[in-house]
Amino acid sequence: MCAQILEERQESIKLAADYKAAPIRCDAASVSGAVSQRACVYCGARVVLNPITDAFHIVHGPIGCASYTWDIRGSLSSGSDLYRNSFSTDLQEKDVVFGGAEKLAAAIDEVMRVYAPKLIFIYCTCIVGVIGDDVEAVCRNAERAWGVSVIPVKAPGFSGNKSTGYKMACEALMQLLLPHKDQSRNNGVNILGDYNLAGEMWIIKSYMRETGIPVVSTFTGDAAYDRLLRAPTARLNVVQCAGSMMYLAQRMEEEFGIPWIKASFFGVEDTSAAIRQVADLAGTPENRRRAEQLVSRESARVTRLVAPYYTRLAGKKAAIFVGGGFKAISLVRQFKEMGMKTVLVGTQTGRADEYEVLGKLVDPDTVILDDANPAELESFMREKGADILVGGVKERPLAYKLGIAFCDHNHERKHALAGYEGVENFTREVNLSINSPVWRHVRG
Ligand code: SF4
Repeated sequence: MCAQILEERQESIKLAADYKAAPIRCDAASVSGAVSQRACVYCGARVVLNPITDAFHIVHGPIGCASYTWDIRGSLSSGSDLYRNSFSTDLQEKDVVFGGAEKLAAAIDEVMRVYAPKLIFIYCTCIVGVIGDDVEAVCRNAERAWGVSVIPVKAPGFSGNKSTGYKMACEALMQLLLPHKDQSRNNGVNILGDYNLAGEMWIIKSYMRETGIPVVSTFTGDAAYDRLLRAPTARLNVVQCAGSMMYLAQRMEEEFGIPWIKASFFGVEDTSAAIRQVADLAGTPENRRRAEQLVSRESARVTRLVAPYYTRLAGKKAAIFVGGGFKAISLVRQFKEMGMKTVLVGTQTGRADEYEVLGKLVDPDTVILDDANPAELESFMREKGADILVGGVKERPLAYKLGIAFCDHNHERKHALAGYEGVENFTREVNLSINSPVWRHVRG
């Protein structure tokens, strides 16, 4: 393998052929100085909670943390757009010395006087973790004074990695739901781990509507306070992004007795399987019949539409570096459907069981890597001759600098990639990017 791997990173990178002998090191702290592509704890928490459309997000910390996640996502709303604002206590040197709790209390009072939201999240960033403000006490006092939910999200950036932030966000959601535990159960499902990027939650909801399965609540794409509180009444939790929401699903099973399944809506194969599985577990034979009708109609339609692109894509090589393992698995399957080979696959926060599935799905000479850095991605993409990189905003410049095509599969994108509609968009984008004439000039 390539010479640019730090010694401490050797166990986090494997060829699929070697996977059986020793599983990859993952779900662990990043190696110091390795320039990880991962985001911080606060970012992980913020991206999960931010799509709650009528919530207020106050970042308790220096202004830079607030700008880091302000309105960078393509999450859409069918109602309020309060969530598209970001508020910060803008902590300064004086606050670091004397404490920032008073400033935070004043910020909450101001938000309540001006906007009167029902739900406020307070994000504790690195500096708050260092100076030790009693944020819980400030939140408790604010709840008593204003009669609304004010929830602390303990997410100092240094306290773990992005996965820790997901967990903190799930804890905050449980804090919101637990007082509403005692409600009678109905027949619907909750959809977890979809953030309504470019309206993807609406696509999934349209499938549920067509099969006759009611959607009770969504976490957190196009979510709103009142709808979230009904979540404990659902019969099944359907988890789309397992990395960010599996913990919430497990906690909801413990507290409310709601079973959960993982279901990916990326690619024809996974979308069809997800629709059938939800109908099997949460529906009647009639719902299952309607699901089958939907699956056969849509999969035939999309397969016909994307077929002409496949001849232009067959044999091309893909590199994948995304947030979670579950999405990476769906992407490998999608590239297989397109006749392409995945030569590199990695994630920021994948788990051992997901890497094991990846190890079996890809060819033996495919590189699998966890928590990569730009130097590793560059070396392996060159070594393997990748034609396209699928990743997020941090990976885009890397691909373009190398003269490699790029497809954004992260939260900044503005077009839907989920469901059958997403298959069309994805195939078209991959084709446009890989077969663009620009690469002939860039690569010389
Ligand atoms: S690492 Fe710390 S300072 Fe940087 S954005 Fe995250 S919380 Fe803020």
